[in-house]
Amino acid sequence: MKPYIYITRKLPEYVIAPLQKEFEVEMWNQEDAPVPRDTLLSKAEKASALLTMLSDKVDQELLQNAASLKVVANLAVGYDNIDLEAARKNGVTITNTPDVLTETTADLTFALLMATARRIVEADRYIKEGKWKSWSPLLLAGMDIHHKTLGIVGMGSIGEAVARRAKGFNMDVLYHNRSRKPEAEQSVGVRYASFDELLAQSDFVVVLAPLTKETEGMFQEDQFNKMKESAIFINAARGPIVNETALEKALKMGEIAGAGLDVFETEPVNKEHPLLQLNQVVAIPHIGSSSKETRHAMMALCVENIFSVLKGDQPKTAVK
Ligand code: NAP
Repeated sequence: MKPYIYITRKLPEYVIAPLQKEFEVEMWNQEDAPVPRDTLLSKAEKASALLTMLSDKVDQELLQNAASLKVVANLAVGYDNIDLEAARKNGVTITNTPDVLTETTADLTFALLMATARRIVEADRYIKEGKWKSWSPLLLAGMDIHHKTLGIVGMGSIGEAVARRAKGFNMDVLYHNRSRKPEAEQSVGVRYASFDELLAQSDFVVVLAPLTKETEGMFQEDQFNKMKESAIFINAARGPIVNETALEKALKMGEIAGAGLDVFETEPVNKEHPLLQLNQVVAIPHIGSSSKETRHAMMALCVENIFSVLKGDQPKTAVK
């Protein structure tokens, strides 16, 4: 019997064609809706490989009932949806999609920063709603980006790519990680700062750390209090890093000036979400790596990783 592979979202046929030549492949049949939990659990029971999305929970319950499972290829660089410890215990290799999405996610993060600072979404709405009657000196006046200070919390691959973009805008770039990156300090020209220093000095605070036990809830009332009143907060990492109630309060009280959000505590959000009611918030639906080129590269990398593990080779991008 051929090994069975389950793919949790409808992907283009040509992406999975190479797998179909050698394995039995089944796919969840919807593009816009996640696979129901029960279906995922029952498919996992007989699968040798799963190709998963960040919205699928790969936890102890799933892993301990998946006797044939050898690999879970997650279509994302983040893997906070996966219980790594349980995977290790059950001998399941986890792979992700680093690097191929770095520049695309950095483009989006910088676009979100610019859109928030220069009020692009509000301006678009204003003109389309027929409100533009005359030029006026402070019409939709935003905030400068060039020569300002950018603080990156979690400066890994994507953070560094954002820092390089910022340098092109003559920005002063601070970063905060658990460990310093002397090479990036030299090559990109960034400065290390403590978390508190970064919050106090930055005009733009950009979060690009992974969601872990340590980073969950890293931004609370206290952190927004420490930021400049003119500061703009950008989250392109994961929603639960931020306490959204605290963020809403900080925006309403004028403790910070604006926010650009690609991610939310619980996704998807509906249009009644309190942060979406604020003009100074630019919100987009978790599309950081979503360019056609990059999404195809991510899918191809998942397929390659599944092939490698099922053939007994080392996958290109295993999560350590
Ligand atoms: P990466 O290269 O692993 O970088 C992560 C950085 O975060 C590392 O430099 C790490 O440095 C730092 N970090 C980890 N824990 C930290 C902590 N407690 N405090 C401060 N810094 C910490 O990953 P990446 O490829 O740049 O991706 C980063 C994250 O972006 C992913 O995990 C994912 O959640 C998110 N992402 C979102 C989208 C989207 O669509 N919005 C797309 C791609 C990625 P130290 O280990 O030295 O602390």
